Amino acid sequence: MINLISLCQNAEKIGISGHIRPDGDCVGSTMGLWQFLSRRFPEKKVEVRLERPSELYDFVPGVSKIVENEDDVVYDVYFVVDSVPERTGMAEKYYNAAKIKVNIDHHITNEGAGDMCYIDAGASSASELVYDLIKEADPEGEYMDESLAKTLYLGIIQDCGVFGYSNTSSKTMRIAADLISYGFDFPKLIDETFYEKTFLQNKVLGEALQKSVLCLSGQFIYSILTREDIDRLGAGEHDFEGIVNQLRYTKGVKAAAFLHEIPEGGYKVSLRSGGAVDVAKAAQAFGGGGHVRAAGCTLKGTPGQIVERLTAQISEQL
Ligand code: AMP
Ligand code: MN
Ligand code: MN
Repeated sequence: MINLISLCQNAEKIGISGHIRPDGDCVGSTMGLWQFLSRRFPEKKVEVRLERPSELYDFVPGVSKIVENEDDVVYDVYFVVDSVPERTGMAEKYYNAAKIKVNIDHHITNEGAGDMCYIDAGASSASELVYDLIKEADPEGEYMDESLAKTLYLGIIQDCGVFGYSNTSSKTMRIAADLISYGFDFPKLIDETFYEKTFLQNKVLGEALQKSVLCLSGQFIYSILTREDIDRLGAGEHDFEGIVNQLRYTKGVKAAAFLHEIPEGGYKVSLRSGGAVDVAKAAQAFGGGGHVRAAGCTLKGTPGQIVERLTAQISEQL
């Protein structure tokens, strides 16, 4: 395992980034690592480079300090967390330029990059892996406190569906047990970040369910929101979380896809399965990746063309 202390003690500048369209685990793992390193090494420059996360995560310490402007910093140590370096958008160039490149991830499609990596596809989340590294670096928990515990817990619950998905292990539960002992209000955190939706998000979910199409003898369900739909609803990029899971909970369905047209052009595709279909494999066929039961990619083309390609991939596995 990577030792954060020996890795960072001689560094002056440390950078951290995660994937584009950061989700809760991405925020939990990058900000958790940032909180630990900036507390453990107050004399060093520790920076997170990340796309602006959803406002839902504004309470996480350090989010307001995310560096968004571009400059020419060369970091001594650079961490890519919850992602491959290629999926970090603008941050990739800092990774490429860094003296020591580190990759921490739990995606099965990540083969490991950089000079050092800690990749465990059996982990619930990247936040679980960051917890491991912090525990190794600080066994007495000198630098662990309520807000760091809450940040890591946030990342874990977001990726394991509040301990409901199959990526939850007994280790995940033990880590969660340790984290809640720091005393933050975890039921409130779960309600506000996992279950609660804005009125608009519920409307968008309703629209996506209305437009869903069942095919492959009821085993594959998909729904598409075009730019026109999105603009009519007044939705933004943070209003689509959870839709694909709801599609997957349709009786008889083995795989679900939710597509929405993105501002850069093309469609962001989110895939979910109950286990019988390996959606990571399907996503990988289109240059994306993820896990067996949750994966994603982006595709160009008309909705009709994209659906045809996706359906062909899924049906190969049924
Ligand atoms: P999402 O549907 O965006 O919630 O993503 C589901 C899972 O697949 C998450 O673990 C993502 O990190 C991962 N994922 C999504 N898109 C990609 C991609 N283009 N490349 C690799 N992994 C992805
Ligand atoms: Mn993620
Ligand atoms: Mn993750």
